Amino acid sequence: MNTTDKPRSLPKLLIVDDQPINIRVAHELFRHDCEVYMATNGEQALAKARALLPDLILLDVVMPGMSGHEVCQRIKADPLLADIAIIFVTAHYDEADEVRGFELGAVDFIHKPINPTITRVRVHNQLLLKQQRDQLRSIALMDGLTGIANRRKFETALNRNWLQCARDRKPLSMFMIDVDYFKKYNDHYGHQEGDNCLKQIAQTIDTTLVRPSDLGARFGGEEFACLLPGTDRQGALYVAAKIEQAIRALAIPHQASDVANQVTVSIGCSTLSPTPQSDAQQLIAQADEHLYNAKNNGRNQISAD
Ligand code: GH3
Ligand code: MG
Ligand code: MG
Repeated sequence: MNTTDKPRSLPKLLIVDDQPINIRVAHELFRHDCEVYMATNGEQALAKARALLPDLILLDVVMPGMSGHEVCQRIKADPLLADIAIIFVTAHYDEADEVRGFELGAVDFIHKPINPTITRVRVHNQLLLKQQRDQLRSIALMDGLTGIANRRKFETALNRNWLQCARDRKPLSMFMIDVDYFKKYNDHYGHQEGDNCLKQIAQTIDTTLVRPSDLGARFGGEEFACLLPGTDRQGALYVAAKIEQAIRALAIPHQASDVANQVTVSIGCSTLSPTPQSDAQQLIAQADEHLYNAKNNGRNQISAD
């Protein structure tokens, strides 16, 4: 499964400090159990945070140019980055400073010169918490029957990708897949077989989507939704056709269907060029409209913009 079961690699740690010697010390501490990245100023830290999505940032408070506080503020204000844990590293104890740091969303403080034991334990504690948060979230975002992403995950990913594609000036495509005459399938083969059919379709959708950024989700009932960031209309149509064929190749018998003697699907595709001002729900509405057309035109087909 390409959405929630990724084998967990080493946690990513970003160390931000304007003094390379401090970075070297921290790097030495963590290079065996983290993927360690470095930045020597605030701008670089933000760029690396966006590109790498680290689990945790060790963030120097006082730096020339953009301060650590400002970096933290910007990260917490960005929905794409807000989950990153931040530990401030400060040269001297200053209560007001620490209060401000916590208010900005930091999870802990470490004082310089860093004590290796304290630093290791604090970083490991926070990485563990981050990992547990990620795991809980991935369970909450998984569909219980099929094991693929659920609608909540789809909606979250849609909003994130809408912003990301607007930022990158890239198109965003999705399609809605609905099983044809599925009520009749349940009536004819029983609910248990119906469930099995949905599981097979979910797996097929999931394995047919090969790009790591693509997402297949159970939208509800016998409806599935796929999200393809950075994919244009032609690309989306190609993937939709591949999924339609893969489901046909499953050759699940459906004697009660009015369109074929096996399980088929109807697919509605939509592609938009997002802007930060426009509404991501438009993409769903458009895909729904096309799904409705596909159903009206006889089912077992794809309808697109
Ligand atoms: P259409 O071709 O127009 O899509 O017809 P349809 O029968 O597929 O559509 P309809 O919306 O009338 O019925 C959907 C059916 O899907 C009804 C419901 O029993 C079934 N269904 C929804 N969720 C599940 C589920 O989790 N398991 C099973 N077995 N069936 C489900
Ligand atoms: Mg339906
Ligand atoms: Mg249906």
